[in-house]
Amino acid sequence: MPGTQDLYQELIGKYRECSTLGSVIGLLQWDMQTMMPPKGAEARSEQIALQSGIMHQRLIDARVGELIEELLTRGEKLQEAEQSNVREIARDYRQAVKVPVKLVEELSRQQSIGHEVWVKARETADFSLFAPELSKLLDLSTQVAECLGYPETPYDALIDRFEPDATASMFTRLFDDFKTANKPLLEQVLNSPKLPDTAFLEIEYPTDRQKKFARHVMEKMGFDPDAGRLDTSVHPFCAGEGNDVRITARYNTEAPQQAIFGIIHETGHGLYEQGLPKETFGTPLSEPLSYGIHESQSRLWENIIGRSRAFWQYWFPELQKIFPEQLRNVSPDQFVLAVNKVQPDLVRTEADEMTYDLHIMLRFEIERDLFSGDLKVPELPEVWNDKMRKYLGLSPPDNGKLGVLQDVHWAQGSFGYFPSYSLGNLAAAQFWAAIKRDLPDSEQKISHGDFSEILHWLRRKVHCHGRRYKRNELMKLATGRSLGAEDYISYLKEKYTGLYGL
Ligand code: ZN
Repeated sequence: MPGTQDLYQELIGKYRECSTLGSVIGLLQWDMQTMMPPKGAEARSEQIALQSGIMHQRLIDARVGELIEELLTRGEKLQEAEQSNVREIARDYRQAVKVPVKLVEELSRQQSIGHEVWVKARETADFSLFAPELSKLLDLSTQVAECLGYPETPYDALIDRFEPDATASMFTRLFDDFKTANKPLLEQVLNSPKLPDTAFLEIEYPTDRQKKFARHVMEKMGFDPDAGRLDTSVHPFCAGEGNDVRITARYNTEAPQQAIFGIIHETGHGLYEQGLPKETFGTPLSEPLSYGIHESQSRLWENIIGRSRAFWQYWFPELQKIFPEQLRNVSPDQFVLAVNKVQPDLVRTEADEMTYDLHIMLRFEIERDLFSGDLKVPELPEVWNDKMRKYLGLSPPDNGKLGVLQDVHWAQGSFGYFPSYSLGNLAAAQFWAAIKRDLPDSEQKISHGDFSEILHWLRRKVHCHGRRYKRNELMKLATGRSLGAEDYISYLKEKYTGLYGL
């Protein structure tokens, strides 16, 4: 019988091949959204499909299964970090083998059809056109969930793909806590006589100068330009890993804040990727923990740091230098209030920090109730509009872009994705509270344009662990307790009572 280390190395070798294939796919996708000429689409989708197939085959190889089983029985002979690697590879392997290829293919076909019909339904604001396709996607996703297994509801299995070990009941608890505390605060802010003036943001800000400013911020945040790039795409994203992190941005000449905060957000994602340990590259120890934890990094930089008064104490004079005419008569305080303007919007992607999570919670509750059978597809527009009125005080005028058909997620069958956005906000605030305890002068450092200690804290407490710990273990190690809503509620209260003089 071969030694434990030999078996471990064999398993790692096989997993690394899958990771390498995965990073090739990532690069093909990045190119598709930034550089590829439109006519390349057909060949590209074939390239991606073939690569994905090869990757899947390698992962579900019988030898991988044997190695995992053997190593799990010899657990104590491995170091703790190696045990985590085997645990996480086993998780990926089991998820991949449990769902029959036929079902994966059927779902993938239905996702394409769903997307196509959704585009038409969205244009014509006709939900009844999309409803039958959505029902099929729900049915196939339920079948996937049945294959994967779950603690309480099929929805748990779908959430778990994005946020390991999270469940619908966990999110219900967290979100109910949040909603109860957020409601009176939001009412106070909306009734405040203080009205942010945003007119100075609605004039022309040339793109090249926006880019120049954002690059400077990226660099100061600690993004390594020799291990990453910034390009332009229709939808901003962060791709790649380790020493090759690709960030993209979208520029709007009459709303410079979109690109500035978009780039800070994506740089937050990029810093996480660049901070994952190099020595175990290609294994779970060097992969991000989950969608929610990834999002905690981007939201911490974008909202908590990037939209703070301390941040603009340093950066506003810089921005004024680049846009002297546009910002001549604007004070730093006016600017900070403008980029934190609270105003309920029908569209999630337009939402401000205080109302964003209500959009997520509405979607989460709808998904949860669809999978439990408490809600039927034809009832969706009505339930959507009711919740919109209840949570945001708004009445959507139709079922299209401003209503139930606004997001692409359901059209692609990505059920269970939404709650990880809010998990990111909760975790970000909890990390921030811990940073302020551990580094009491962090805000002062931010006001001098110095982020080095904060980045170092994130590197030590979050980035360097990859998938070594489960989410709540990581939260406890970094912040002293499991994930909760308390720190996020306190953060919002402190920030918005200050900004709006409540
Ligand atoms: Zn993000």
